[in-house]
Amino acid sequence: MSEYRSGRHFLQIPGPSNVPERILRAMARPTIDHRGPEFAGLALEVLEGLQWLVGTDGPVLAYPSSGTGAWEAALVNTLSPGDRVLMFETGHFGVEWAGVARRLGLEVDFVEGDWRHGVDPGVVEERLGRDRSGTYRAVCVLHNETSTGTISPVPEIRQAIDRAGHPALLMVDTISSLGSVPYRHGEWGVDVTVAASQKGLMLPPGLGFTAVSEKAVEASGTATLPRSYWGWGRMIAENERGFFPYTPATNLLYGLKESVTIFREHGLEEVFRRHRRHGEATRAAVAAWGLETQCLDPSAHSDVLTGVRMPRGHDADAFRRVALERYDLSLGTGLGKIRGQMFRIGHLGDFNDLMLIGTLGGVESALVLAGVPIRRGGVDSAIRSLEGTA
Ligand SMILES: *Cc1c(COP(=O)(O)O)cnc(C)c1O
Repeated sequence: MSEYRSGRHFLQIPGPSNVPERILRAMARPTIDHRGPEFAGLALEVLEGLQWLVGTDGPVLAYPSSGTGAWEAALVNTLSPGDRVLMFETGHFGVEWAGVARRLGLEVDFVEGDWRHGVDPGVVEERLGRDRSGTYRAVCVLHNETSTGTISPVPEIRQAIDRAGHPALLMVDTISSLGSVPYRHGEWGVDVTVAASQKGLMLPPGLGFTAVSEKAVEASGTATLPRSYWGWGRMIAENERGFFPYTPATNLLYGLKESVTIFREHGLEEVFRRHRRHGEATRAAVAAWGLETQCLDPSAHSDVLTGVRMPRGHDADAFRRVALERYDLSLGTGLGKIRGQMFRIGHLGDFNDLMLIGTLGGVESALVLAGVPIRRGGVDSAIRSLEGTA
């Protein structure tokens, strides 16, 4: 095979997502003095844009980091060694965040799950209700579990904490949901929102975000886990004037400015509607193929990505290799304990109907070529779904 591959690569993993040309061009500019007046204007504008996207009047901090860094920032700023935190095995990323917490010396109470459902608010209420002396310091959930394609109901989880009358902080990972499905940090009463650049925000990897409530800032005054790079104190103080306590990722901030502009032009509701249509169409294709989605709860399906189960005896990664070699199509691998059993179709970020039809065409044909027993007609079902919701 020739090394040159004509046409576009299809990057349909659930993050990093496709970066639009406009954002690439916005970043291709000389780096400026991050302690000068031009920079302050840029920083104040993008930080305000982040507040709008996350839905908060409070501080949003932007680290030169991946999402994992923002996970760590959320924990080390608000908690002390040995603090109890309630976390959930919604899937691979739930397991990973719990691992970060344990390595930092926190006591994780981990609610087991089957990787096919979101967080049950009833379980939150029951666990916190039993905790009369208020030993849990935080409840940590993933809004969108990217390893499975499952959404957890954040407003209902907030209500469950309130019904139990419990003072724990609510921390939410929105790394793969922000900018793709509705989310409101302030209105929903979230204390720490964790996000990153490379999924719904359509940027390359390299920025991690935390949005923080007043209660979380207060907690950071007494929390004693060691922190330096991640410390909110200096970051919030410097950000107020449009500066950072260390060198920021200036060119990614150019990209973020363009990303916010695109969201404002398009309108958040319109972006969410597009993701909903693409989620529905993809699920219509999966059903027509006669395959199962990883998520078993119809009310929890993610419009960011779809996890697809392989029939028994068929290896998802062998199929993914066919899709890549034959169609130059990258699909998400199964992560952690479900590796090989499923694959993930990303339909987030800068994406349109025809890109989805092309993606699903590649999936359908590669499944057939890989010898996986499916019914054809998934793409047709997806097209009908898209026509019906246009
Ligand atoms: C991608 C992702 C992460 C990890 O983010 P990195 O940027 O790879 O560190 C964590 N949580 C969720 C929900 C994700 O989708």
